Amino acid sequence: MGCSEDECIRRSMYEQSIMNIAGTIREMREWCEARRAAGERIGFVPTMGALHEGHLSLVRAARESCDVVAASIFVNPTQFGPNEDLSKYPRRLERDCELLEKEGVAAVFAPSAEEMYPRKATTWVEVEGLSERLDGRSRPGHFRGVTTVVAKLFHIVDPAAAFFGQKDAAQVAVIRRMVRELNFRVEIVVCPIVREADGLAMSSRNIYLRAEERKQALVLRRALIRVQELWLSGERNAVKLVEAGRDEIAREKGVRLDYFEIVDPDSLDPMGEALNGALVAVAAYVGPTRLIDNFMLGIA
Ligand code: AMP
Repeated sequence: MGCSEDECIRRSMYEQSIMNIAGTIREMREWCEARRAAGERIGFVPTMGALHEGHLSLVRAARESCDVVAASIFVNPTQFGPNEDLSKYPRRLERDCELLEKEGVAAVFAPSAEEMYPRKATTWVEVEGLSERLDGRSRPGHFRGVTTVVAKLFHIVDPAAAFFGQKDAAQVAVIRRMVRELNFRVEIVVCPIVREADGLAMSSRNIYLRAEERKQALVLRRALIRVQELWLSGERNAVKLVEAGRDEIAREKGVRLDYFEIVDPDSLDPMGEALNGALVAVAAYVGPTRLIDNFMLGIA
């Protein structure tokens, strides 16, 4: 009997590993229900795969505070725009499962797109207002896709806690708001950005970068550090700080700025005065690859 590539990988991994790999919603639900019935607190790490140390740091945080850890690997089509990289997004299910198993993950949910969306999606979860800020402004519909799939995953896994990276700061704001307003009983835990040795924020998309672009990509971090330095020397005018960040990006040819903003981390509203805890966030195209980075003033 033939099987799809993902399904074959799932089957062969399943035969070899102690980690449970579920391809269907029913299997995943049954596994989670059994864990909860045993009195275990499930920690959940949703991902799109092509895992790196950033993802694994979420798994480690989950292991520390939960009894069992479940992860999902799903490249969610509804959060990609028509001209984005859905078809070329890296897919490495076998390697990802090996990494997760080494980290002590007990179950992986790796459904197909047909399993998650058997029909064209007509029901959406959307956080109005926030979804049009930062990445949502340049990627219309992106956060609607994110909140919809995360809501579905929360319904399937029903975790006690879910772990997200500060790297996607706007996503954190949107998910926190969704959880609060829709009364999900999950605790949202946010983990720090994991970086390469030279400061580039780790991202599954970094593998798209050619050697020259990999160097150019460092300008995102440089621009954030420039703003931090100015802030530490006393500058509180957000317009001036943003200008300094944008100038730094503009100096790197081959990099096209998408946004550079200083916003309230919960409402994502732009701030006039850059107060302690404000989110400084940048997105830029390095060649064709869109990268993001951020930090919080006075915090890191
Ligand atoms: P993704 O696979 O890109 O959807 O990311 C899955 C989760 O990993 C999200 O919560 C991301 O914020 C988080 N993540 C991605 N990159 C990093 C990083 N460099 N440091 C910390 N968390 C990250």
